[in-house]
Amino acid sequence: PHTRYRNQSTQSARLAERAREVLPGGDTRSVTYHRPYPTFFTEASGAQVTTADGEELLDFLNNYTQSVLGHAPGPVVEAACDRLERGNDVAAPNEDIVELAERLVERVRSVERVRFTNSGTEATMNAIRAAMAWTDRDRVLKVRGGYHGTHDTVEVAVGHEGVTAGIPSSVEQRVDAVRFNDVEALKERFERSGDEYACFILEPIAGVAGMIPATEAYLEAARDLTEATETVLIFDEVMSFRLAPGGAQERYGIEPDLTAFGKLIGGGLPVGAFGGRVDLMEQFDPETGVLNHSGTFNGNPATMAAGVALLDHFGADRIKTVNERGDRLRDRLESVGETADVPIRITGDGSLFQIHFTDERVTDLKNSTAGDPPSEQLFLRLRNEGVLIAPRGMGNLSTALDQRDLDTFVDTFATAVEAIGDSET
Ligand code: PMP
Repeated sequence: PHTRYRNQSTQSARLAERAREVLPGGDTRSVTYHRPYPTFFTEASGAQVTTADGEELLDFLNNYTQSVLGHAPGPVVEAACDRLERGNDVAAPNEDIVELAERLVERVRSVERVRFTNSGTEATMNAIRAAMAWTDRDRVLKVRGGYHGTHDTVEVAVGHEGVTAGIPSSVEQRVDAVRFNDVEALKERFERSGDEYACFILEPIAGVAGMIPATEAYLEAARDLTEATETVLIFDEVMSFRLAPGGAQERYGIEPDLTAFGKLIGGGLPVGAFGGRVDLMEQFDPETGVLNHSGTFNGNPATMAAGVALLDHFGADRIKTVNERGDRLRDRLESVGETADVPIRITGDGSLFQIHFTDERVTDLKNSTAGDPPSEQLFLRLRNEGVLIAPRGMGNLSTALDQRDLDTFVDTFATAVEAIGDSET
């Protein structure tokens, strides 16, 4: 597949070479880099993205789950452009922040107050800070393989080896990681040092680790144990918010103390937000609180307007439709594996899915195959046939993908799986 890739993306090769002269690796997001070089894109509309070589790809990646309505959705683009034209860079609050905050508070029961950031990274960073200030504790508990952005605390125990280069050892020492979906291990951990943690931060569905939903028992244990030890429970819903109007916490029926948001809530512009219980959030009140939270682009009006338009077009009905399509798609993909006699497990929930090349049940990072060589092979084979997923084998649906697109995906997937099966025997 590499030769074919090179042959059909010569323009990207040229751009990648040029990019390497000014950007390490020729890219500026580690996650979008892949071998031999990433594809450069020129435009995107609905479910289609156009590459620098003029190829049209069907997008099942959607900027890592962000573009739930597909690309350049009319009302969202219009709202953002209109706001830009009316002046976007005044250092003062505006009605736009209230509009978007009201929508989040309305939709998510556990969220009483909100603050906006420019990324999911800043959202988890500030949520953790709020927890530390509130509890007067400085240790953090997270899940092994849990990805919450790129600030120091949460970069500990992300991959199998854990990224430690560039992270102060003092930070590393105050972060503990537990195995996802292991209730017993969580109980033991809390028995040993539950009263030392400022927070337990986790995703209701572990995204980067392999799109693995938390079991009901695990989320319940997380809620009970944190409550008993006055530890702040933080849900990172940067990816999972799309699963229900009120996020995965509504879908799974567990309420955290704080929630981190990102991706879709900015309608395609850079964004993050964190929110939750009023007493925790009021720490950011400039008159009465102890915490500072500034940012030149916090609550950027164009982002807020795009986010409002997006949420207003991504309500209960559309969410239900796209989730049902995802449920059906995951079943069909599993069947492809059975027919081809290639060990395949599909994880995910609603509109989110991940393909694992294993016959083991996938419950956490340890048995996930996200990013393993077969995932990369699959990615490139699909890519060569005009279908885009993440190199680590993750995909997701936007409302712009119709039934025919899903059929195309299943057919292309079947051909790729057969080729992978043949190359392994
Ligand atoms: N948390 C989760 C669960 C994410 O998936 C991501 C981004 N993929 C982040 C946090 C970080 O968000 P951002 O890239 O906006 O910093």
